[in-house]
Amino acid sequence: MITKCDSCNHEFELTQLTTESFELLPNNVERHYFECPNCNKQYTTHYLNDDLKEMQEEIRRLQNKHPLKIKQKNKLAKLKRKIIFLHNQLKMEVEHK
Ligand SMILES: [Zn+2]
Repeated sequence: MITKCDSCNHEFELTQLTTESFELLPNNVERHYFECPNCNKQYTTHYLNDDLKEMQEEIRRLQNKHPLKIKQKNKLAKLKRKIIFLHNQLKMEVEHK
Protein backbone atom coordinates (compact mmCIF):
# COMPACT_ATOMS: atom_id res chain seq x y z
CA MET A 1 0.00 0.00 0.00
CA ILE A 2 1.45 3.34 -1.06
CA THR A 3 0.80 6.22 1.24
CA LYS A 4 1.32 9.87 0.50
CA CYS A 5 2.30 12.17 3.30
CA ASP A 6 -0.15 15.11 3.66
CA SER A 7 2.53 17.30 4.98
CA CYS A 8 5.48 16.89 2.57
CA ASN A 9 3.89 14.90 -0.29
CA HIS A 10 6.50 12.21 0.06
CA GLU A 11 5.25 8.84 -1.15
CA PHE A 12 6.22 5.74 0.71
CA GLU A 13 5.14 2.17 1.00
CA LEU A 14 3.50 0.99 4.16
CA THR A 15 5.13 -2.32 4.79
CA GLN A 16 5.98 -4.22 7.88
CA LEU A 17 9.36 -2.59 7.62
CA THR A 18 7.85 0.78 8.37
CA THR A 19 8.33 1.10 12.06
CA GLU A 20 5.12 1.32 13.90
CA SER A 21 5.46 2.58 17.41
CA PHE A 22 3.02 3.47 20.09
CA GLU A 23 2.70 5.88 22.95
CA LEU A 24 0.84 5.30 26.14
CA LEU A 25 -2.07 7.63 26.85
CA PRO A 26 -4.00 7.98 30.12
CA ASN A 27 -6.16 5.02 31.16
CA ASN A 28 -3.73 2.56 29.63
CA VAL A 29 -4.73 3.42 26.08
CA GLU A 30 -2.08 2.83 23.44
CA ARG A 31 -1.96 5.11 20.43
CA HIS A 32 -0.30 3.26 17.57
CA TYR A 33 1.18 5.31 14.77
CA PHE A 34 3.76 5.37 12.01
CA GLU A 35 5.94 8.21 10.83
CA CYS A 36 6.60 9.62 7.43
CA PRO A 37 10.22 8.61 6.66
CA ASN A 38 10.85 11.99 5.11
CA CYS A 39 9.45 14.56 7.55
CA ASN A 40 8.55 12.36 10.54
CA LYS A 41 4.95 13.47 10.64
CA GLN A 42 3.00 11.02 12.77
CA TYR A 43 -0.07 9.20 11.52
CA THR A 44 -2.29 7.40 13.98
CA THR A 45 -3.30 3.95 12.87
CA HIS A 46 -5.41 2.79 15.79
CA TYR A 47 -5.89 2.86 19.53
CA LEU A 48 -5.84 -0.09 21.88
CA ASN A 49 -6.92 -0.62 25.45
CA ASP A 50 -6.85 -3.67 27.69
CA ASP A 51 -10.27 -4.90 26.58
CA LEU A 52 -9.34 -4.69 22.93
CA LYS A 53 -6.03 -6.46 23.50
CA GLU A 54 -7.80 -9.26 25.29
CA MET A 55 -10.27 -9.57 22.44
CA GLN A 56 -7.50 -9.60 19.83
CA GLU A 57 -5.83 -12.37 21.76
CA GLU A 58 -9.06 -14.38 21.81
CA ILE A 59 -9.57 -13.86 18.08
CA ARG A 60 -6.03 -15.07 17.46
CA ARG A 61 -6.60 -18.13 19.60
CA LEU A 62 -9.80 -18.99 17.73
CA GLN A 63 -8.19 -18.41 14.34
CA ASN A 64 -5.43 -20.85 15.16
CA LYS A 65 -7.89 -23.60 15.95
CA HIS A 66 -8.79 -25.84 13.06
CA PRO A 67 -11.41 -26.87 12.29
CA LEU A 68 -13.72 -24.58 14.19
CA LYS A 69 -17.03 -25.78 15.51
CA ILE A 70 -20.11 -23.83 14.43
CA LYS A 71 -20.33 -22.30 17.85
CA GLN A 72 -16.73 -21.12 17.69
CA LYS A 73 -17.21 -19.75 14.19
CA ASN A 74 -20.15 -17.72 15.41
CA LYS A 75 -18.16 -16.49 18.36
CA LEU A 76 -15.29 -15.46 16.10
CA ALA A 77 -17.61 -13.54 13.78
CA LYS A 78 -19.23 -11.82 16.73
CA LEU A 79 -15.86 -10.89 18.24
CA LYS A 80 -14.66 -9.44 14.95
CA ARG A 81 -17.73 -7.24 14.67
CA LYS A 82 -17.41 -6.16 18.26
CA ILE A 83 -13.75 -5.31 17.97
CA ILE A 84 -14.38 -3.02 14.98
CA PHE A 85 -17.11 -1.28 16.92
CA LEU A 86 -14.92 -0.86 20.00
CA HIS A 87 -11.96 0.36 17.93
CA ASN A 88 -14.15 3.14 16.52
CA GLN A 89 -15.64 3.94 19.87
CA LEU A 90 -12.25 4.24 21.50
CA LYS A 91 -11.04 6.45 18.65
CA MET A 92 -14.01 8.77 19.15
CA GLU A 93 -13.41 8.90 22.88
CA VAL A 94 -9.72 9.68 22.60
CA GLU A 95 -9.93 12.17 19.75
CA HIS A 96 -13.00 14.10 20.84
CA LYS A 97 -12.25 14.76 24.43
ZN1 LIG B 1 6.20 13.69 5.22
